[in-house]
Amino acid sequence: MIMALVSRCKDIKNHFLYICTYFHEIHPIMKQTLITNIKELINIEEVKKPFVAGKEMSNLKTLKNAWLLIEGERIKDFGEGIPDARYQIPDTGYQIPDTGYQIPDTGYRIPDESADNHASGIRHQASEDMTIIDATDRMVFPSFCDAHTHLVYAGSREIEYVDKIKGLSYEEIARRGGGILNSAKLLHQTSEEELVEQAMSRLSEIIRFGTGAVEIKSGYGLTVEDELKMLRVIRKLKELSPLTIVATFLGAHAVPAEYKGKQGEYVDLVINEMIPQVASEELADYIDVFCDKGFFTVDETDRILNAGMKYGLRPKIHANELDYSGGVQVGVKYNALSVDHLEFTGKREIASLSNSETMPVILPGAAFFLNMIAAPVRRIIDAGLPVAFASDFNPGSSPSGNMQLILSMACITYRLLPEEAIHATTLNGAYAMGVNEDLGSIARGKKANLFITKPISSYEFMPYAYGSNKVEKVILNGEVVL
Ligand SMILES: [Zn+2]
Repeated sequence: MIMALVSRCKDIKNHFLYICTYFHEIHPIMKQTLITNIKELINIEEVKKPFVAGKEMSNLKTLKNAWLLIEGERIKDFGEGIPDARYQIPDTGYQIPDTGYQIPDTGYRIPDESADNHASGIRHQASEDMTIIDATDRMVFPSFCDAHTHLVYAGSREIEYVDKIKGLSYEEIARRGGGILNSAKLLHQTSEEELVEQAMSRLSEIIRFGTGAVEIKSGYGLTVEDELKMLRVIRKLKELSPLTIVATFLGAHAVPAEYKGKQGEYVDLVINEMIPQVASEELADYIDVFCDKGFFTVDETDRILNAGMKYGLRPKIHANELDYSGGVQVGVKYNALSVDHLEFTGKREIASLSNSETMPVILPGAAFFLNMIAAPVRRIIDAGLPVAFASDFNPGSSPSGNMQLILSMACITYRLLPEEAIHATTLNGAYAMGVNEDLGSIARGKKANLFITKPISSYEFMPYAYGSNKVEKVILNGEVVL
């Protein structure tokens, strides 16, 4: 009888162990990273908002002397002072070599900027599943969300840049190898593999400057084949890069030379051939049109957006960069996620945006590089609207994806307060590319895409010290990548 009971208990025990093993395999213990002694944790949210607008943009929530816990790829918790007892792991003092996620080698070599880079922010392996990072004197920011770029391109256009300085006309520049059409010619001659390699090196660079999510457009193809090629390159980048990437189809970026004088036929090509193929291969998340003087008219934009919407492609529009083009209004009509550039924005544009879910996106890099007028951002914010700032990283008018520089320009040129500029480059940028549920702020459950600064005196130092890289460590999807 007793033997039978012992045997039965053994069975139960074995069964219990079996269940434990079973669950452990299905639900393996997730890797945790605890960041302690954070001087200030920036842009925290207790309740997630899609974006911040108007006066609210200057109300940036932060936590001094904070800690942050990452579990798996997400933010699990954060708080002030010493981490909750349940998260405290004794410090073994054991230091491990950096074995974080390695950015795929694209041949691009990033110089070691400062020797003190490795002096602190020390990582300890507290246990197999827990890494502790000491962030004494350092701040933690949510990664920048760059909602407007054209960073897939072939070669560069510095000769055109010098020609512009010399005062050459647009036609002369085009003859010498400048302009969107010449970028298209070069892209046509470049293989998909080479385009991926060049773009990956640009992605590595923007990761170093603190970007955690980026929108990338097509638009240097301008034929069915080459537009699809560009979008396939972006799809490949999504697979290879730890960044969150969204793709926008911009077939209507410029009119190819062979369609000069018959622009309507090119619009037909975009509508009848490009959009259906892009949609059938699910290559794009959004659709864009350059709706401006000398590019595409409001009527053409209307036709293209209407066709895109039938395939579920929500618009993001290039609008009002060169004139009061009607681009803002046609964008709002089709519930665009964003309207971008906005140098020519008056009362009518602001009134149109006021009754919409469309994010105004400002691109100071292009305005700076081309010496253009600045968009009236203060008037937009004073009207109670949100704004986002993005890099417009592209070879012709903004050959930089450095969002720290964009943050500085937002303050210097557009007179945003640092708090407004931080919102404009993080949460509002995330909304303008449709990733605000997951990114753009420090909130429980959001993806752990963030950076740890070098030792800095205050968060205002970020836009103030323009030109230098204040980012020391980067975490993407919960992994230390830098
Ligand atoms: Zn653009």
